[in-house]
Amino acid sequence: MAVAFNAVEQAIDSLVRTEVRAINAYHVPPSTNMIKLDAMENPYGWPDDLRQAWLAKLAELSLNRYPDPSATELHQTLHRHLNLTSATGLLFGNGSDEIIQLLIMAVNKPDAKVMSIAPTFVMYDMIARFLGADYCSVPLDESFQLDVDSFITAMIEQQPALVFIAYPNNPTGNALSRQDVIRIIEAAPGLVVVDEAYHAFAEDSFVQDTCAYPNVLVMRTFSKVGLAGLRLGYLVGPVAWIEQIDKLRLPYNINTMTQASALVALAHWPILAEQALQICQDRAELAKQLAELPGVAVYPSAANFIVIRLDLAGPTATDVFEGLKAVGILIKNLSGQGGVLANCLRITVGSISENSQLLKGLAALLPSR
Ligand SMILES: *Cc1c(COP(=O)(O)O)cnc(C)c1O
Repeated sequence: MAVAFNAVEQAIDSLVRTEVRAINAYHVPPSTNMIKLDAMENPYGWPDDLRQAWLAKLAELSLNRYPDPSATELHQTLHRHLNLTSATGLLFGNGSDEIIQLLIMAVNKPDAKVMSIAPTFVMYDMIARFLGADYCSVPLDESFQLDVDSFITAMIEQQPALVFIAYPNNPTGNALSRQDVIRIIEAAPGLVVVDEAYHAFAEDSFVQDTCAYPNVLVMRTFSKVGLAGLRLGYLVGPVAWIEQIDKLRLPYNINTMTQASALVALAHWPILAEQALQICQDRAELAKQLAELPGVAVYPSAANFIVIRLDLAGPTATDVFEGLKAVGILIKNLSGQGGVLANCLRITVGSISENSQLLKGLAALLPSR
């Protein structure tokens, strides 16, 4: 006999934490057979010879054994690849999402606060909430700029244990100025994590700055540079910080295939770097073409995506999002988040042909001038 639905609901209500029940699950829309310009993936695969080298490497693995818990070879190779000194350590996560979780767990004393800007990467807020930490944010203005003085005032008031700065920021695509990030670091009462998920498309980095401050860590991911399927992110910072966070990491979080695949990627890094360069060139071209469409304002981007805002006189962002979906093109509708994202859409830079199909699709949905 099946248990009554009501009884399950009752058990959940009495047992599951209130803040967990209140969370909406992270929704990933179906995308089979669509032109996928919604998730900041690299549109390019690996050339055939590299795929062959990768498969040969995978064939040697012993999946009956647990992975190397410290990913030693990957650790050493990436440490060299990034030119780090022995004072700087590395930690791997199952995507940088897992690292966000480890960081919040590490500082989550009773009443600890996590702080960032708004809008920004939603996982900071979500993970803080599901770990029971308070989350607060300071809004960006209509041009996605931050009033750094207000941010510093709020930090002094809120005393966050942890501040996340996405650099460049998602979903807006812009980056704060280096000087503004340094001001935040120097005024922060706690740890500042610079999230460089889009580092491959940006001009600057804070990796070297982790040596100069006691409270700065940098987080990166292999996802946006072409390996979203691997789930591999990493944290860079002073060895003593890394040792503390590492205690919270589950021993086998990076599986054998991911470790081996990332080593192949690092051995052939110029291929990924060249793809990133191509994406940056295509970003400039796509931005130019988008700006020529009627009623479209294009925001500057230092990442592999572009945010546009539609003029109120034309179709809404939701209309355009649905219209593109109907012809097989998936982008991200930011409109529902409201505020400075009202009537905004986020478009991942795709391949040249995907970008031109997107432009054609958009032109068909927007009124002609
Ligand atoms: C995509 C993204 C991440 C998450 O990366 P994963 O390594 O795939 O978990 C982290 N931060 C920002 C700002 C992102 O946009």
